[in-house]
Amino acid sequence: MKIIDAHMHFSSVGNFAETAANINCKCDIPTLKREFDKCGVVLGVGMGVDSSDIVDGSINPQIITHGLEQFPPFMAQCLGIAPDMITAENREQTLAAYEKLLQEPTSLGFKIYAGYQHYYVDDAVYHPFFRLAEKYNVPVVIHTGDTASSHGKLKYSHPLTVDEAAVDFPNVHFVMAHCGNPWIIDAAEVAMKNPNVYIDLSGLAEGLINAEIFLSEGAGYIEHLKTWLGYMNHYDKLMYGSDWPLVDMKNYIEVIKAVIPEKYHRAVFYDNAVRIFTKLQNCLSRQND
Ligand SMILES: [Zn+2]
Repeated sequence: MKIIDAHMHFSSVGNFAETAANINCKCDIPTLKREFDKCGVVLGVGMGVDSSDIVDGSINPQIITHGLEQFPPFMAQCLGIAPDMITAENREQTLAAYEKLLQEPTSLGFKIYAGYQHYYVDDAVYHPFFRLAEKYNVPVVIHTGDTASSHGKLKYSHPLTVDEAAVDFPNVHFVMAHCGNPWIIDAAEVAMKNPNVYIDLSGLAEGLINAEIFLSEGAGYIEHLKTWLGYMNHYDKLMYGSDWPLVDMKNYIEVIKAVIPEKYHRAVFYDNAVRIFTKLQNCLSRQND
């Protein structure tokens, strides 16, 4: 089965090397490519985390630092937004830099780190980005649910904060990363109710897992997921994502395969990502050039 990983991380600098070491991997291009080939992943959407030097004196927009001039053909990215860096002075320049970078074929949308960033998803600081997302018809991926750091504030990453933005910006497509975990029910409701809200299933397990043991020891959790995704009954709105290098890719695929009824595997592991990330098809076509 061909797979698109709709949510992963990559940086050739910073602390992803340590995260990758937890799963006996390296966060470098050859390792990532090997993992992709092993698992049938044809393209990964990386969430921007690194400072860009496009704007002098600003860390916006956040990108993937992969160390190559050209993007590897098996990767694309969402531009990370750091709202606390936006000031009245640099606002215009910052937005212009985002718009310019968004026009790159490998830029598939935006990423908001709600919870890590202490702003509600519908905060006015994000509105210009929503307007850009609408203009270019690209989605906004939002971190929802638990934060890896205790400095995160959970009220900002609760799925209900996405509902506010989804209603106010009906022409913008929002992806709730991690299915709001552990607020699975709330995330399912927000995605079910709003035609413009989707879910990625990344980050529901962490580390070097063994799928069989995880599915057996976490049977209650898996059943809960299956129940509420089934209740939502919109398998056209779900996308596979791993959060690699936070979790072992091969085993995580097995976990999500067990959560999703087999008849929807193609949709969840591939087709939905191509539809929701509107620029993704072009990235796939470029691979064959
Ligand atoms: Zn992530």
